[in-house]
Amino acid sequence: MTRIVSIGECMVELAPTNIEGSYQIGFAGDTMNTAWYLSQLLGDAHQVDYLSAVGQDAISEQMLEFLQEAGIGTDSIQRLPGLTVGLYMIQLQDGERSFSYWRGQSAARMLASDSDQLAAALGSAQIAFFSGITLAILSDQDRARLLAALAAFRTGGGTVVFDPNLRPRLWDSPDTMTASITAAAEVSDTVLPSHEDEATWFGDADPEATLARYLKAGAQTVVVKNGPGEILISDGGAISRVSPVAAPTVVDTTAAGDSFNAGFLASQLAGKPIDQAVIDAAALAGRVIQSRGALMPCAG
Ligand code: ADP
Repeated sequence: MTRIVSIGECMVELAPTNIEGSYQIGFAGDTMNTAWYLSQLLGDAHQVDYLSAVGQDAISEQMLEFLQEAGIGTDSIQRLPGLTVGLYMIQLQDGERSFSYWRGQSAARMLASDSDQLAAALGSAQIAFFSGITLAILSDQDRARLLAALAAFRTGGGTVVFDPNLRPRLWDSPDTMTASITAAAEVSDTVLPSHEDEATWFGDADPEATLARYLKAGAQTVVVKNGPGEILISDGGAISRVSPVAAPTVVDTTAAGDSFNAGFLASQLAGKPIDQAVIDAAALAGRVIQSRGALMPCAG
């Protein structure tokens, strides 16, 4: 049995219902979405844990219950007094969705404040997964602490998987963001970027440039997603390419990349060759974007 630890922030989601002015509570966040899909895809065959921090209030408890019900282990989630979880609200304006966030003070920002806790949480794991959003919410000191813990985990034989998930609004400056993302790639075995974001912030001319840059940073395996476009794959050798099956209707692209990452890792764990893992990942993401919301039941 493999133990996978996904590291980051889960937030409360307030999404509009069919009743005017009424909102429904859910839970989502990039690394949690990936853990959620992984838990469904892997069932009891493997253990998926979430590494984060929450408060000790009722909504934090509700979040932990949600994770446990999804089969995600919560032993690596710190419960910090006096803090609470982050929140975002989805609003519909003329059919367009807009997002507002309240996450500046969230408990998850403390997830890497204790080296011993990080080492213990990663201790018996084989795979650690994190993202650029995980790094963005941390202080400089805690970001360095997390990257050091991941480097030690990798030295000890663990596999580190990273999705850069560039979100400039969460960073002090674009330069801090790109430097931190590159530092994260340096401690990662596998990097799963999305070309469009990378082109904007790293100036990559094409997906090949994104792939080459992360291989140069030290990753052994790089898979470059590109929305509906061709996916580029390299694990050190020649580049291979997979075209996602065109989705007949795109309803909501939320969690396309997150579900892709889970589909990819689950198929790799099942022993499939890398190109097949990408085909499976794209098939899952292609289904996820045809329904509303981040989390689409897909097991069985
Ligand atoms: P992110 O959500 O991280 O920005 P992408 O937009 O690159 O990631 O999408 C991730 C994956 O989702 C793609 O590699 C592809 O497999 C799938 N996908 C996204 N948009 C479409 C689409 N319009 N049609 C089919 N597949 C898509």
